Amino acid sequence: MKIGFIGLGIMGKPMAKNLIKAGYSIVVYDRNKEKRDEVVAAGAEEGFSPKDVASRTEIIITMLQNSPNVKDVVLGTNGILEGAKEGTIIVDTSSIAPLASKEIAAEAAKKGVDLLDAPVSGGEPKAIDGTLSFMVGGKKEVFDKCYDILSKMGASVVLCGDIGAGNTTKLANQIIVAINIAAMSEALVLGTKAGVDPEAIFNAIKGGLAGSTVLNAKAPLVMAGNFKPGFRIELHIKDLANAIETGHDIGVPLPLTSQIMEIMQALKVDGKAQDDHGGIIQFYEKLAGIEVRK
Ligand code: NAD
Repeated sequence: MKIGFIGLGIMGKPMAKNLIKAGYSIVVYDRNKEKRDEVVAAGAEEGFSPKDVASRTEIIITMLQNSPNVKDVVLGTNGILEGAKEGTIIVDTSSIAPLASKEIAAEAAKKGVDLLDAPVSGGEPKAIDGTLSFMVGGKKEVFDKCYDILSKMGASVVLCGDIGAGNTTKLANQIIVAINIAAMSEALVLGTKAGVDPEAIFNAIKGGLAGSTVLNAKAPLVMAGNFKPGFRIELHIKDLANAIETGHDIGVPLPLTSQIMEIMQALKVDGKAQDDHGGIIQFYEKLAGIEVRK
């Protein structure tokens, strides 16, 4: 069986390489030729459009920024549906609006093509070492067919419900991560300005109730002044916008999410949209006039 992979950015590139390492034969495409070349050099076949990839493969994985990119790649001119055979499966691992996943799945179904929405958490390090967490929406029988493939890129692959459930779960994940980073930032800025070494604070609290995966991953980067993405603030803004829109649609106010959204908007105005989301701390540092560094 041949697998297609479209979208070879920060996440897609290492995920595609892990499929090659696991022995799968894959055809890759990204609109950026340099990114394609790098994965081809690692052993993939080159694809020349989403349509071309679909005509040469049975399961196609997409890893793109947001809903418009996925709609373009799946439904657009020279898109996947133009090249796909009946029975093809699309596994969209991008983080997009749940409603968009449902719309794309409905269009795909008209051609006998199944869709799973299967966004991930874990970021670039876990994409590289193949330990991502997949949260999946779609039909159980389609999920079962894709389980082994997703397991080569992830340590956890969980079916959360019908189509859209994967991206709904991802919105929950993104709310928790954003608020955690903001809480960590507020706390470390307070401690540092009060004259305590931030590394001592980190070491003292990481094993207690305040400890978290976010704290372990982001505090060392903050203290090193390293805001290289990782996960860009720009993409987290996209996720919170999808969360707020979804919440408002179904009648769920999201007061904390809205506040972090405005912090991220301020960082964007300040030219920090391409920084890692650990860079949220720069908002607090500016307010307090201090930097949290080792
Ligand atoms: P990225 O911008 O690095 O990569 C996206 C890739 O898609 C780019 O290489 C781009 O050229 C390609 N692309 C976009 N539109 C295309 C089109 N029409 N045709 C062909 N190629 C196209 O983004 P990323 O950081 O890899 O994130 C991808 C998705 O994964 C996003 O939805 C993001 O929210 C999610 N995500 C990212 C992280 C992270 O830490 N970076 C973690 C979890 C989830």
